[in-house]
Amino acid sequence: MEKVYDLIIIGAGPAGMTAAIYGSRANLSVLMLEKKFPGGQMLSTGEIENYTGYEEVSGPDLAEKMFEHSKKFGTEFSFGEITNISFEDNIKILETSTNKYKAKSVIIATGTEARLLGIPGETEFSSKGVSYCAVCDGAFYRNKNVVVIGGGDSAVEEALYLSNIVNKVTIIHRRDELRAQKILQERAFEKSNIEFIWDSIPISIFGERKVSGIEIQNVKTKEVSKIETDGVFIYIGMNPQTAIFKKLGILDEYGYVISNEHLETKIQGIFVAGDVRQKEIRQVVTAASDGAISAQSAYKYVEFTK
Ligand code: NAP
Repeated sequence: MEKVYDLIIIGAGPAGMTAAIYGSRANLSVLMLEKKFPGGQMLSTGEIENYTGYEEVSGPDLAEKMFEHSKKFGTEFSFGEITNISFEDNIKILETSTNKYKAKSVIIATGTEARLLGIPGETEFSSKGVSYCAVCDGAFYRNKNVVVIGGGDSAVEEALYLSNIVNKVTIIHRRDELRAQKILQERAFEKSNIEFIWDSIPISIFGERKVSGIEIQNVKTKEVSKIETDGVFIYIGMNPQTAIFKKLGILDEYGYVISNEHLETKIQGIFVAGDVRQKEIRQVVTAASDGAISAQSAYKYVEFTK
């Protein structure tokens, strides 16, 4: 007979990995599925300095520690991207291109993915000067000039990371004030090799075989100008990875999963954790907290429906 897991966790970021610890420690049979690499956005984060207990830790290091920890109490791990979810009474059936899994409960912890600018040159020069990951690609730009697009936490944090490697970072932001936390703003303003271009949006990225510049427009004066640069790092926000859950009717207008304080969705036995959830604060620590709460809710659900 096909195995029916007590809990399947979709996504191995900090939310999913914490849910794995709490679920398996509560003696549930747990499978965690991940389509890429365990770690989620931590893998593309230079330094994390606001996760309790770690004054400073690199994102990939924390991801590795969490992954090892997540398997300690018996959680099984497998690679796979869920392509369909269906139901047989109370049992949830999750399909990947090669496998079919069954579970009594499911935690959606699929996180978010980088939003694209959608301008000419962006896809053409992807990995040829256009990047969404300073940690992965920053080293290629040693002593060169790069631009960072965006004004949120990610843009400013990664601009700070890049400023320690490259010659000059120019942050291009569509307004005249940053969205990022004040502490990050202050650090960026203090850096002598970080410059700002305000009230401007990118309109195209150009070059021959790799990026040589970016064309921008001032949104107030409408003036168009060209900036020479070796690299364009894009940090304009994230989109929830929820396309396959749309048919379940559990998403808000932006695609985030709606839940109550127990992280239950309106479908019995389906829970949500981490950045993919409709909520205000998206941090590693809040993702981990969601993981614990959702796993506890899944545990109660599995026990109750025995
Ligand atoms: P975000 O907070 O949504 O910021 C996106 C930035 O890109 C905003 O400044 C936005 O401008 C700009 N933008 C959006 N669309 C644009 C477009 N089409 N063209 C040009 N600019 C555009 O996204 P994020 O920085 O990726 O952060 C995502 C979440 O993770 C947030 O909740 C954040 O707090 C969290 N996070 C936290 C940390 C940390 O605590 N250290 C680090 C990274 C991320 P406007 O400001 O004008 O809207």
